[in-house]
Amino acid sequence: MSETLRAARVAAFEEVPGLVHGFEQRLGPAGWEERDDTRRRVASTLARSGRLLLLQQVHGARVRRAPWTGRPEADAAVAEAPGLLLGIETADCLPVLVVDPVRHAVAAAHAGWRGTAAGVAREAVAALVAGGSRPEDLLAATGPGIGPCCYEVGDELRAAFGDAGADFFRPGPRGRPHLDVRAANERQLREAGIPEARIHGVADCTRCRADLYHSYRREGQDAGRMINFVGFAAT
Ligand SMILES: [Zn+2]
Repeated sequence: MSETLRAARVAAFEEVPGLVHGFEQRLGPAGWEERDDTRRRVASTLARSGRLLLLQQVHGARVRRAPWTGRPEADAAVAEAPGLLLGIETADCLPVLVVDPVRHAVAAAHAGWRGTAAGVAREAVAALVAGGSRPEDLLAATGPGIGPCCYEVGDELRAAFGDAGADFFRPGPRGRPHLDVRAANERQLREAGIPEARIHGVADCTRCRADLYHSYRREGQDAGRMINFVGFAAT
């Protein structure tokens, strides 16, 4: 049987009973698969564990509570029942997954620079806490995304972060700022109260690792998407 889903995983999440998660890696060459085909393939592979719920991602910080039908506009989501798997589509933007092993709840966020500046990871954690989670119980993981090695940005983007951005930008080889999206989101997770030792990550750069990931910066508008997913399996 041919492989239908390949994904990077974090050990701390694999230890949580009943949890299903992954940071998808592409199976074929760049551009080999239409996004709708990726959605169908991943949804059917995960169907035993639950229903894959996707969003219409718009680079904001709105959080949606599962379940839903269709693909509503939002960039983060929370699920508090088994059988609901949250999916975040990326091709350079950073996926952020959060798990409450006590309450069997999960959150997921899509964090490009706009979502990061708007605090989408912070909002995702806040939605879990609003549902009864204690921040110190949470586990978080950031997934593959464009690294500071490759993420040269303009000065106007630098300005969007204001003073708070001082720690996340470094001058690159051409003198323009490079953004560390992962560092910015890890800080939001810490500031939301998740202990540093409970924040994990798959720190691959999607643009550097052409063998594993789609990349908008590398492949342009027609780049495929990876689906990053998290949820508790249906019982
Ligand atoms: Zn890179």
